[in-house]
Formats: sequence, C-alpha cells, structure tokens
Amino acid sequence: MSRYVFVTGGVLSSLGKGITASSLGALLKASGINVTIMKCDPYLNVDPGTMSPYQHGEVFVTEDGAETDLDLGHYERFIDVNLTKYNSVTTGQIYSVVIAKERRGDYLGATVQVIPHVTNAIKEAIQRASRISDAAVTIVEVGGTVGDIEGQPYLEAIRQMRNDVGRDNVCYIHVTYIPFSKVIGEMKTKPTQHSVREMRAIGLAPDIIVCRTQKALTPEAKDKISLFCDIDKDRVLEARDVDCLYEIPLSMGEQGLATRVLQRLGMTAPPPDLERWKEVVGHFRERKPKKARIGLVGKYIKVADAYLSVLEALTHASLPHEIGHELVWIPAEQLEKDGPGKLLADLDGIIVPGGFGDRGIEGKIAAVRHCRETGLPFLGLCLGMQCAVIEFARHVAGLADAHSTEFAPGTPHPVISLLPDQTGVVKGGTMRLGAYPCRITEGTRAAQLYQTQLIYERHRHRYEVNNEFRARLARHGLVFSGTSPDQQLVEMIELPGHPFFMACQFHPEFKSRPMHPHPLFVGFFAAAAARAAAP
Ligand code: GLN
Repeated sequence: MSRYVFVTGGVLSSLGKGITASSLGALLKASGINVTIMKCDPYLNVDPGTMSPYQHGEVFVTEDGAETDLDLGHYERFIDVNLTKYNSVTTGQIYSVVIAKERRGDYLGATVQVIPHVTNAIKEAIQRASRISDAAVTIVEVGGTVGDIEGQPYLEAIRQMRNDVGRDNVCYIHVTYIPFSKVIGEMKTKPTQHSVREMRAIGLAPDIIVCRTQKALTPEAKDKISLFCDIDKDRVLEARDVDCLYEIPLSMGEQGLATRVLQRLGMTAPPPDLERWKEVVGHFRERKPKKARIGLVGKYIKVADAYLSVLEALTHASLPHEIGHELVWIPAEQLEKDGPGKLLADLDGIIVPGGFGDRGIEGKIAAVRHCRETGLPFLGLCLGMQCAVIEFARHVAGLADAHSTEFAPGTPHPVISLLPDQTGVVKGGTMRLGAYPCRITEGTRAAQLYQTQLIYERHRHRYEVNNEFRARLARHGLVFSGTSPDQQLVEMIELPGHPFFMACQFHPEFKSRPMHPHPLFVGFFAAAAARAAAP
C-alpha cells in the first residue's frame, strides 16, 4: 500500500506548489523510493486542452495522450518518469464519472451528493494513480488555494483519506506566501495564520509549512508561524525565489523536507544521492560570458508559461555548454508587419514553436524563410514544422499560394491539411495526441542526433503534411527525415547543407529532462552555440 503526501496552497495561487511537490519527488527518488505525483485541478473543464494559454499556460501532453496541466511537466522533469492520464484529474472529469454512474443507476436510488459520492470519486482517482504506478509514496498536489469554493471537495477527500489509510500513512504539506512589508520592514505571517486556520476549520492540520518568500525567512517569522500555526519550528521551511528551478530540490533537501516527510510516514531510506542535481545546478551557476541569442517566434510572448517546456528543453540543452543562452522573444505579429530585418538581426538561432490559429502566421513563415536563406539555425516544432513546409513550398518548390487548410481552407496548394478521414472535426478531443512511433530515415541529421531508428514522440495537432505534395517537395530538396512506420505521416523534415534546419510534427520539448536533454534541442543548440562562438 502506498503512503500519501498532500500538497495544498494558501494565500496566493502560483506559489510553486508544483515545484515543491516535484522537489519532494526528486528527493525521495534520489533515496531510491518509488514515487509518483498527481495533480487535482478543481476547475470544471474536463481538461485544459480547450483553455487559452493566456489563462492556463502550456498544455502538457503525456505519453498516453492526456492534455494536462503544466505542473505535470515539472513532475516529469524532476522525477524523470513518464506519467500517465491517471496523474491528472479535474472536477470536470470527476463530475463526468459521477453523473454517468447516476444515469446508469449505479447509485441504486441514493441521493447523489458531494459527500460521499464526489469525494469517493476523488479518492478513487487518487488511489488509482497510486496503484497504477505502484508507488511507495504518492504525492498529490491540490490545485488552487485553501478557501476556494471549487477546492472544497478535494480538501474533504484528502481529509477522509487520513482515516481510510491511517494517520501515519499521510502527510500534509501547506505551501504559503510570506509578504515583506517595506514600510514596516517586516515579514508578515498573518495571511499564513489565516490560511492554516481555514484548513483547521475543515479538519486538516499541516505537518510541514513551506513558506515562499523573496528574502530569507527571518527567525522571528519562523517563531510566529510555529506558535500561531501550532507546528514545530523545524517543520517550517523556506522556499526563496531562485533563478534556477533545479536548485530547489537541493535547498529543500538541506532544510530536511524529505527527512521530515519520511519521519511523518514512519519510513526510513538511505540519504538521497543528489550528485546529478548538483551537476545540473553547477552548470547553471557557471559564468558564461558568451551567450547564444535564441529567438522564440511566438504568439503568446507575454506569457512565458505558454512555452514552458520549450524554454526548459532549451535550458537542458544549453546547460553543459560553455556558451550560455539568452532568450529573445519575437512577437510573430510584429514580424509580420516589420519584416525580419531588425527583429531577427544578431540572433544565433530561431525556434518556431507550436500553436493554433492564424494570428502571426505570416510572421512565423517569414522567420523560417530568413533562416533558410541566411543559414541561421532553425528548429520548428509542430506548427513550426508546418510553417517550414509552407515556406519551402512557396519559395522553393514554386507553389506560390501554398498554405495550410487550417488558415486558408480554399488554398489551391494545401501542403498542410486534414487527412481524408478527419472530416467534420470540432474542438476538444479530436487531435492526434500522445506518443506515436517515428522511423528515422538513414543518413539524415535526425539519424545522427537520435542514434537510433525508431523513436516515440508526443503529438498534439490536427493537421498533417499532405502526401500529394511530398514528391514535389522532395524533388526540390526537402528531406523527410522521419515518418510514421507505414510512411503515411511526415514526422520530421530537414534541409541538408544548411548549418541546422530541422523541424518536427511532434513536440520534443515534452520529453526533455534536465539530465537527458532532447537530441533535437542538443543539435539545435550546438549549431547556435557554434555560431555565437565564431569570431
Ligand atoms: N495548429 C496546428 C495543428 O493543429 C499545429 C498544432 C500545434 O502546433 N500544436 O495541426
């Protein structure tokens, strides 16, 4: 049977509960404990697939094709495990299950209520995630903040679980925010006291409080939290703002997060082996006076979270280099208006990431053209690959009106289109999602980078390269360096003779980990770094 650690948040949202859960996961894993992490999202959407990246940040896709919260990306990167659709649950899913059961008559005439029917469904979802991963410790992050109306059934469910699995098999961590009042020159603990009081009112008492702060937590603040929240001082930990997320497992480890959790759960484990984490952080701290300037041509440039995994994957690839990287946000719409001249000057590489909708699309195509014509390293991801195919068709293969039917349904040259059997698609649950196999073409740069022939990469898209145009594009020099094993779907393209011009229909960023950077990002960054190093 698994033990459970529940992570809740107080005072503010976006406090880093996900990073706290992930760091604990990393520490336990480094002690040889089999751990899994799950997210409960109290919103009513069934999944974040249809939510705007402005509101919700990136949609993270699991190997088995679930569209999930970006925290799952943190979990995977920190514990280095592929999670599944069971590691994420939303109120939309819980209610769908309960209502379907009610319609089938499974409740045998009972009045269906939040307690026990909804709370039971939540507990079943948590236990299923735990069972499927065969975890010794299951970490469960409850989204939102204590006090939110939507979150109440989850808090009640995790309270009940204390009785179901036994007090000594559960641990509650509360992540909270400690503001610093400049006027008074003091850290204020009152919001935390209120948030803990709110938890107590529903029968939950934190075993550990993690305090997010801008500065070091003062001994006075720690004393106050200990006194007013009725918790030992050594169970009040500090999570200070850091430049590098990957420092957090180390600082949490030093403060004894994993030790306290193991104590609470009555478990023993060898001390964590954190050498590889130290290496990652060591690379991050190295002084790297030279930096490769990487342009990210996107639509949501004001919300860094919309491209979170892409940014992380770039960081992973650049860490071991002597040359660092500097990210340059390039708004696709501005590129559309102003042209590549000024906006793309002084870059060492360009990434065109995934996206939906036609806003800024001509800007993205212009960025690809600039890379192809000037030898600037280019990496296209999903929509980025579709833009590269459109650009090549238009300016090299002589199909001036080439486009994707997503943006120009009437184009005479639909080089990107839906497959014939995808008629009448609607939004929500109609995409090619999750891991699919891809066979790499021998003798290509892709083969060199991956060093293997068959790969599995994660997808999230509706449109594909139209096979009717493949022969023509190939004749003009576009290389299809990866396809589905039956060769029906184009998965990767590249241009030989260019310093680095590669794009893929899948999202390699979802599989990059700090300790295993993704081959495509490694290749791309090496080319950009070489350019930055050149005199
Ligand atoms: N909009 C494109 C499609 O649906 C690309 C999607 C993406 O980049 N994730 O195929």
